[in-house]
Parts: sequence; C-alpha cells; structure tokens
Amino acid sequence: MATIKPIEGRSVHQIQSGQVIVDLQSVCKELVENSLDAGATSIEVRFKNNGLDSIEVQDNGSGIAPEDFETIALKHYTSKLSTYDDLSALTTFGFRGEALSSLCALSKFHIVTTRAADGPKGTKLEFEQSGKLKGTSVVAAKPGTTIVVETLFHNLPVRRKELEKTVKREYNKVLALLHAYACISTGVKFSVSNQVPKGKKTIAFATNSNPNTKENIANVYGTRTLIALVPLSLTLELDPSNRPGATQSARNWSTEEDGSRTVKVAGHISRPVVGEGRQTPDRQMLFVNSRPCLLPQVAKAFNEVYKSFNVMQSPFIFANIKLDTNAYDVNVSPDKRTILLHDQTALLESLKEALANLFEGHDQSVPKAQLL
Ligand code: ADP
Ligand code: MG
Repeated sequence: MATIKPIEGRSVHQIQSGQVIVDLQSVCKELVENSLDAGATSIEVRFKNNGLDSIEVQDNGSGIAPEDFETIALKHYTSKLSTYDDLSALTTFGFRGEALSSLCALSKFHIVTTRAADGPKGTKLEFEQSGKLKGTSVVAAKPGTTIVVETLFHNLPVRRKELEKTVKREYNKVLALLHAYACISTGVKFSVSNQVPKGKKTIAFATNSNPNTKENIANVYGTRTLIALVPLSLTLELDPSNRPGATQSARNWSTEEDGSRTVKVAGHISRPVVGEGRQTPDRQMLFVNSRPCLLPQVAKAFNEVYKSFNVMQSPFIFANIKLDTNAYDVNVSPDKRTILLHDQTALLESLKEALANLFEGHDQSVPKAQLL
C-alpha cells in the first residue's frame, strides 16, 4: 500500500497560514501594509489586552469593492500581482494574497466594515476558516476599511499559550515595528492605542500627517531625539570603476556593462558624539524602497562604522535604501521581512566607506543648530 498521500486541503491551509502569520507582529504588519496599499492617509491600530484579545485596524483607504467580497480572503487572491514577472516591478507591500486567508485560518477574523469612496453604505463581512465568505450585512460606515483579528491562534494551543506568556514583550516588538511604518509614511496619520482589561485605553503613540520623516520621528520618539541626528543622504556607487578616481577606460566599460548600479541611502542618523542623545539599539530602522525590513548585515555595517567613531553608544538609525526594483527579492520568507539584496557585498563596502566619510566630516565642535 502506498504510504505517500496528499495532505488534506484544510490542513494544508492551516500549515501554510502558520508560516505567514507567525506572531503578533505579522498580524499588525499585514493589516497596516494592506491599509497603506489601499492608499490610506489615516490608520488607527487598536489593541485590546496587548493584542491577546484583539487587534483592530481602521483605515480611510480605497475600501473593498462588492465584486471582491467573495474572493478577498481566499488563498492567493490578490489585487496586486497576477504573474510572477510582475514581482520585479512591485510597488505595493502585499503581493501573495495570503494574509487575510491566513488570518481566517488562525483567528476569529472579520471585516467590521468596508466602504469604497463611491459606495453608499458600509458592509460587514464574515468568513469561514477556509476564507470563504460566510455572510454580509449593511452597516453605517465612513469610507475605508476596519478589520479585526480576535483571539489569535485560538486553534493552535501551543502558540496561543506561548503568546499568553510572552504577550507584553511581543506587544513591545509590535510597537517597534509600527514605529517604523509610522516614521517612513509621510502624509499618513497613525494612532496606536491599547486597552488593558479593566484599565483605561492608553495611546501608545500617534503621528500627524507630516510632510517629512523628521517630523514623524519627532512625533514617535519625541522632539529631543532630533537633537542628536544628522541627515543621511548617501549615493553609493556599487561598481568600483564608477567611483571617483577610477580610470576613464574602466568607467566606459562599466557603463556599457551595467549603467544602473547606483544606490541611494536617505534618512537620519546620530552624530557620533559621545554622551549626546543616548539612544537605545531598538531605535534602528532599515527600509528598502520604504519597506521596513530586516537587513542584519546592513545594520551591522552601520553599527560598526559608528562604533569606530563612538564606542560608547549605539546610533539611532533611520535609513531608507533606494534601489532598482530588480536589485532585490522580497519573496524570500513567508513574512516578507527578510530581503535578499543582489550584490550585498559591494553595497556594504560602499556603505561603510560613505558612512566613514560622513562621520569624519562632522567636526564634533560644530554647534547642533547648524547640523539640523
Ligand atoms: P495581498 O496584500 O498580498 O494582496 P491580502 O490577503 O493581504 O493579500 O489582501 C487581499 C486583498 O484584499 C488585497 O489585494 C486587497 O485588494 C484587499 N484588501 C485587504 N485589506 C484591505 C484594506 N484595508 N483596504 C482595501 N483593500 C484591502
Ligand atoms: Mg496584504
């Protein structure tokens, strides 16, 4: 008798969903990214009991069209990508159509209301665990979408128990991630609150719809944070032949071979001045084309160069690496937080050199006002 058999569909769904939604952070990341993809300019995240009871995200984005109600939470249904080739030109956060379907499988999920700008009323949508639409009802609502995730991992006892045990720490990690989205999103108003049982609702942080990232950082971390920061604006040439000092023939050769290997890094970083603006290491945010992501090697490069000027502290880092969309791959891990950078070695080398130049250029006696 054959021993190799296909896994039954429902179980496959649950197995895969557990890889997309691994923790509280993934839930918030997916919901906030969907709101940003929907063009929202206002996003409110409301936690109950640090997220253990529920996480609700309300936006004023495009809303969901009634024609999409049936398919919205089905696995691999997305409005953002239709063929693999589109991936290299991706400008949205989402593309796999897995988040809502995974949330249906792992939590008590529903769309509290959604209303397109031209829709007369809002609609509440309820789903089965498989992501199939269970029912709709008409509700009063402003344009936009509100989604709630209740009792995350209610059907995965081990993960639920673990979450109950670690929820305070998890909640703080979520806040750090939301800080990154709030800081990078100019023109978007964020508000994050938490309601603990029998306690008051507290605002964790909020931003205005600021026109620049500096004001976002001030809203999130406090105006004092800015005192220690200098603007980061680097242009990295990944082809050694294109760097200053290269011979003309090498330059010509490199332009013919590949003319688009320039990377820009924009943001804010602490001046390497001992004792100034003590920053904690978790205030380090890295982005690739405005997508918050984990880039351990890049973070290490930043910290190493900074430490060579100031061994006493860790820097505040807010760095957006602007790359050609063909120069990296976001489809590496199910939670899309790990990004594969092509030619990372050249990038790191060039980054370290540029950072050292930047820090050397900052005479530590220059008054702060001139640097801001
Ligand atoms: P993906 O983001 O990869 O497309 P999701 O499962 O996160 O997959 O979402 C499925 C689809 O639902 C999205 O493509 C989008 O069309 C729609 N959607 C999800 N959240 C929102 C929202 N907040 N506002 C408008 N549309 C949304
Ligand atoms: Mg999504």
